[in-house]
Amino acid sequence: MATTDRPAPEPDRAPCPCGRGDSYGDCCGPLHRGERRAPSAEALMRSRYTAFAIGDAGHLVRSWHPSTAPEHVDLDPEEQWDRLEIVATTGGGPFDSEGTVTFRAHHHRGGRAGVLAEHSRFVREDGRWLYLDGS
Ligand SMILES: [Zn+2]
Repeated sequence: MATTDRPAPEPDRAPCPCGRGDSYGDCCGPLHRGERRAPSAEALMRSRYTAFAIGDAGHLVRSWHPSTAPEHVDLDPEEQWDRLEIVATTGGGPFDSEGTVTFRAHHHRGGRAGVLAEHSRFVREDGRWLYLDGS
């Protein structure tokens, strides 16, 4: 990836875009930088939402299961991600190998607001949560 494609670093002390209540440096930041693994499917899902919000396409590809991952992800810089709402989760914990997260992601582009609602499936392989697919 060309260096110009890299997102501007998110300030570690700013509130994390995923809305969990922690700073980016204590929440999704270490997951994006590969310093920490997501402890749960929900944490991985949050880190993927935050990757959308800050434009980190590389994290989206890396956290995608190889069987379903696209070769690259193009993010629309005009799309603004406003808020993540976790609706429901199943499994996805330290003793699970599968999990689901149902969420609603609020976004807008110019004056047009929208909601992306998805039921995402995650699998854990070698201790690492990966996004499988969504419906
Ligand atoms: Zn976060």
